[in-house]
Amino acid sequence: MTEYEKEWFEKDYYAILGVTESASSKDIKSRYRKLARELHPDSNPGDGRAEEQFKEVSAAYDVIGDDDKRAKYDEVRKMGPIGPMFGPGAGSGHGTGHFNVGMDDIGDLLGGLFNRGGRGRGQPGSARGQRGNDIEVDLTLGFDDAVNGLETAITLTSEATCSGCDGRGSAPGTAPSKCESCDGRGVHDENQGLFSFSRPCQSCGGRGSVITSPCTNCRGSGVEVRPREVKVRIPAGVKTGQKIRLKQRGGPGHGGGPPGDLFVHVTVEPHEMFGRSGRDLTLEVPITFAEATLGAKVKVPTLNGEAVKIRIPPGTVSGKTFRLKGKGGAGDLLVTVAVAVPQELSKEQRQAVEAFAKATTESPRAHLGL
Ligand SMILES: [Zn+2]
Ligand SMILES: [Zn+2]
Repeated sequence: MTEYEKEWFEKDYYAILGVTESASSKDIKSRYRKLARELHPDSNPGDGRAEEQFKEVSAAYDVIGDDDKRAKYDEVRKMGPIGPMFGPGAGSGHGTGHFNVGMDDIGDLLGGLFNRGGRGRGQPGSARGQRGNDIEVDLTLGFDDAVNGLETAITLTSEATCSGCDGRGSAPGTAPSKCESCDGRGVHDENQGLFSFSRPCQSCGGRGSVITSPCTNCRGSGVEVRPREVKVRIPAGVKTGQKIRLKQRGGPGHGGGPPGDLFVHVTVEPHEMFGRSGRDLTLEVPITFAEATLGAKVKVPTLNGEAVKIRIPPGTVSGKTFRLKGKGGAGDLLVTVAVAVPQELSKEQRQAVEAFAKATTESPRAHLGL
């Protein structure tokens, strides 16, 4: 029997999290988040009991928070401690390296910087190992950077390959030893009459080797939580709410499994002048009544600081949009003119407008029939 399975018999993970056995995975997740927040060492400095509880809760969630593991756990519990597969004598007892304190989940809580995404999709216990966790980070970009794209580095605190053992899980200077239970094959053959079955070795999780001297830094998991830097290429034209997926830059895999993915959630800071419409930039430009009526050449700013002139034809109505090709970062600049109405008039202006009014004989409302 491995330590891992012993844990499963001895611990009631449902009770630890305070949920029923029929709780939905959503309920388990939110319950875990609540407990983990309360018990997190950062919120309880020097409180050894809280730290122990935090580990228990994390270990419990590591199992019943994962649909695959939960199904196995439920099965194991149903069989009871003297079930045929795990009865006395089964397995070799070399399994200390499998104990998992749920380090997977601690990163969830660190600094609020990142949230856990999907769980690893690997197959626990299979020889292929378990895929690392997906990780999500938030990234706020300046308007210009979002429009033009950039290469940047983000620092995140998350699961990473253990620096103590380089992810191998064994204490430096030691090596995993051959699993005695399966003689290094990773599977057991079972003969039942005419048929022969192979099942993965429970002692070594199908890997054929067991960690006898776990790395003290990661307790044999090969994974630790620490700050690390990831280079990200932001494509031109990203928008708030967009997710950029960096394949295999998430949490490291377990037991030879591939790393998870890193998802960067983008938030773009607004610009005081420019807006965005698809790939294009938008800009509202006030013009005078005279410019709208007589036509004019008007200077407008662009995002790169260079001003360009646009020609307003005579008789331009308020709200008309002009497209300036290639002047809006990766797209065009859409300039919408708005006829400005003066709030105060000088004497000359008033006389001029009054003269204009006098000279205006046709009502613009004639078509309304009034
Ligand atoms: Zn380590
Ligand atoms: Zn084995």
